[in-house]
Amino acid sequence: MEKTVSAVVANAEGEIFDLPGYAAMGMSGETTVPLITGDTINTPYGSEFMLLPDRNPVLFNLATKESEILWENPLEPGNPVFPVAVFNSPGYVNTHTSAYTEKDNAQNLPLFSYGAVGWQNGSFRSAAIRVDRERRQDLRLMKQEKIDNGIKRLQQSMPTNRLVRHLEKCALEYGCPAAKNFFLGRYEAPLPTSQRCNADCAGCISLQKDSDIINPQERIPFTPTPDEIAEVALEHIQSVNKSVVSFGQGCEGDPLLAAKEIHPAIEMIRATTSRGTINMNTNGSLPDVLKRLFDVGLDSIRISMNSTRKVCYNAYFQPKGYTFKDVERSIDLAVKKGKFVSINYLNIPGFTDSPEETESLLLFLKKHKINMIQWRNLNYDPVSYLNIMGSAATFGSPIGMKRLLEKVKNDFPSIKYGYFNPPREKFRP
Ligand code: SF4
Repeated sequence: MEKTVSAVVANAEGEIFDLPGYAAMGMSGETTVPLITGDTINTPYGSEFMLLPDRNPVLFNLATKESEILWENPLEPGNPVFPVAVFNSPGYVNTHTSAYTEKDNAQNLPLFSYGAVGWQNGSFRSAAIRVDRERRQDLRLMKQEKIDNGIKRLQQSMPTNRLVRHLEKCALEYGCPAAKNFFLGRYEAPLPTSQRCNADCAGCISLQKDSDIINPQERIPFTPTPDEIAEVALEHIQSVNKSVVSFGQGCEGDPLLAAKEIHPAIEMIRATTSRGTINMNTNGSLPDVLKRLFDVGLDSIRISMNSTRKVCYNAYFQPKGYTFKDVERSIDLAVKKGKFVSINYLNIPGFTDSPEETESLLLFLKKHKINMIQWRNLNYDPVSYLNIMGSAATFGSPIGMKRLLEKVKNDFPSIKYGYFNPPREKFRP
């Protein structure tokens, strides 16, 4: 067997340490495998490590060559030991989640992704694949001092723009990399607009209703005016090369429900400049509304989905007043209009790489000529998610995320892989 990666666990104080005699394991649905060097990478800069409460780590015992649930800390018998997971930086797809079993009193984990991680030659090793080389959200390039200067400058030049004030909170309190990039004058700026949504995603990060899960961000408490939106967009477009401005952020509902403000805002932007890329991250629920936004100048869309199987989509998105067919209509409309179309493919190993999901995705890509798949680790409790999906449809043993990415690329070589919305300068190969 290829060289395994050492196991890491945590004690009650939250101290993470490697455990001699044990290899790390990765979980993919009900399957657990020892992590080996070739299937892991050095954990990307800026990733975060998490201790998983009310859970026991599943590790590979190098002496018995068997997987083992740890009930206590073998280095301090009688003391608890906890699984460790990694929240990998943007641009990396988890191939396995952290391997653990839940205790009876386990609550839902907060809205993060829980990648498998180990230790080797002095560094953490993540079970992940890089899908985007762009350093758009590389924290080493986002100095706080520069962000603060950007905020000060825009407080002077846009003293009454409520959207800029909102983005200050996003950058400073939520640590939103998109908001930080606006104040840094880099890459992509966010244009959150909508207070409402016509979906009710289990893992919505801006609104959680009747759930034990806490939403990490508050939904934007007002609807910016077309002037406020256009002012922010033009500030970014006119000062950033190959700029992107995006509707549809984590701190809002779905932008299609704020088309009344977005339509005149795009008109104002395009009346002033033809530079920059105007993008929308959306659930794609309202194709007729989207048509009008394309006609006024929207350049690209990114449509979020956790599955191309209607029953699995409905089980997670819980759509209100629209159907998966409407989402498909939005995609086909965008393709017909020559717009750049990405799907924001929310993935969790064990489900996304199941044979049923793989086959359905390949059929979907044959039907809908999209340009890009943005592989996004779904920020949701992996065990709960598999239970939700299991209640909606069957899914068999995973083929592996690596193999899934290879298969899709093999069958659809022109489809781009990535994580970030590209500027239109990169639309066409
Ligand atoms: S589509 Fe977006 S805003 Fe709407 S419920 Fe889902 S995550 Fe939340």
